[in-house]
Amino acid sequence: MLFENLQLIEPILKALKSEGYTTPTPIQQQAIPIVLDKKDLLGVAQTGTGKTAAFAIPIIQLLCQDKHLSAGKREVRCLILTPTRELAIQIGESFDSYGRNTPLRNKVIFGGVNQHSQVEALKFGLDILIATPGRLLDLMNQKLVNLNHIQFFVLDEADRMLDMGFVHDVKKIIAKLPTKRQSLFFSATMPNDIIELSNSILSNPKKVEVTPASTTVEIINQVVYFVDKGNKKNLLVDILKDTSIERALVFTRTKHGANKVAEGLSKIGIRSEAIHGNKSQNARQSALNNFKSKQTRVLVATDIAARGIDIDELTHVINFELPNVAESYVHRIGRTGRAGASGIAIAFCDAEEKPFLKDIQKLIGKQIDVVENHDYPLMNHQVEDTISFGRQRNFGNKSSFNKNGPHAPSREFPKRAGSQIKFQHRTAR
Ligand code: AMP
Repeated sequence: MLFENLQLIEPILKALKSEGYTTPTPIQQQAIPIVLDKKDLLGVAQTGTGKTAAFAIPIIQLLCQDKHLSAGKREVRCLILTPTRELAIQIGESFDSYGRNTPLRNKVIFGGVNQHSQVEALKFGLDILIATPGRLLDLMNQKLVNLNHIQFFVLDEADRMLDMGFVHDVKKIIAKLPTKRQSLFFSATMPNDIIELSNSILSNPKKVEVTPASTTVEIINQVVYFVDKGNKKNLLVDILKDTSIERALVFTRTKHGANKVAEGLSKIGIRSEAIHGNKSQNARQSALNNFKSKQTRVLVATDIAARGIDIDELTHVINFELPNVAESYVHRIGRTGRAGASGIAIAFCDAEEKPFLKDIQKLIGKQIDVVENHDYPLMNHQVEDTISFGRQRNFGNKSSFNKNGPHAPSREFPKRAGSQIKFQHRTAR
């Protein structure tokens, strides 16, 4: 089954093509025809299954075919409620991508930031509103949002909404929606309270269920290296010695971190650039173009700056730092493995990041293979951060790497009492 078989309009097919997506995921195969048929939908699926596109694509199509659009009216016709700011941003990103060849406008609103730009966007006119419940309710109470024209309502990650205590806010918002609408409800789990909530929202829904085994992340080969924070740079240099890595997208958590990594790599002759929110739009575009045209080998990005990065044939994503929000990991690694290409996602995990790794593995429903035969195994020590790339490290000269071969244990490492360095893949716990 291909996207072409799903009766999608040309602007969407074109956008999917430039995203590098050819084959719909199981939830997309099942959900898209149901939504296009204007039925309510109950989707049991989690992040990583492609569920965002499963609702975004048919909604974009139906909104484009709606006569209100041609009448030039800009009323919010689609509302998506999601529990966290990160998810909201990612959903906005998906609507940007799949709707890029349509005139539709979307806006993401969430709390914790000034409401000014959100209010301005609402005044200007929108088709799709993606919101976290608290801020939306706040703006509704200030009479700054009009939900009278909603035709499509999506409740995303319903079980997390409940866990996070948003159920009352959600119910208050739903009470203000027109009763005649198409509703889609997504949840990773279906305990009784979620079934009750779905019954109160949906009418005669079609149910679609996918297991984590059918997630998009399944096609990406994922590994993790346990490494001390201060040795991550050295490990990165080591990994990049592999010339089969033509290009790598490296993720850091902070803008400062992105700059440092890019500068460090450039200093030792690995062409790299950073892309983050402090850079001008022009600088970001030029960094992206250089990466796409293979003038730079490494692009170092923060999560938000990586929005909308779609690069064909990107084989490697390296998580220099693990994200503290597990969904971001899925989106980061989703930048590779597109259009059926095989992708490799490498994660560096230091002692402090172990809880993040645990969350990620829980979310993707599988354990990530650990690479143990590397020169910088986690010793739980802190290496001076002033070490420059590829130069002297605390345990000897990296230029000779390891006299015993590239993947043999470095004798210069102090052995922890009772700890044995193993050299086979094992599973992270
Ligand atoms: P989601 O489950 O919506 O959070 O999506 C998880 C990841 O899969 C995202 O990075 C998407 O960009 C990616 N993705 C969604 N649909 C497809 C597809 N049909 N082919 C390849 N990747 C996809």
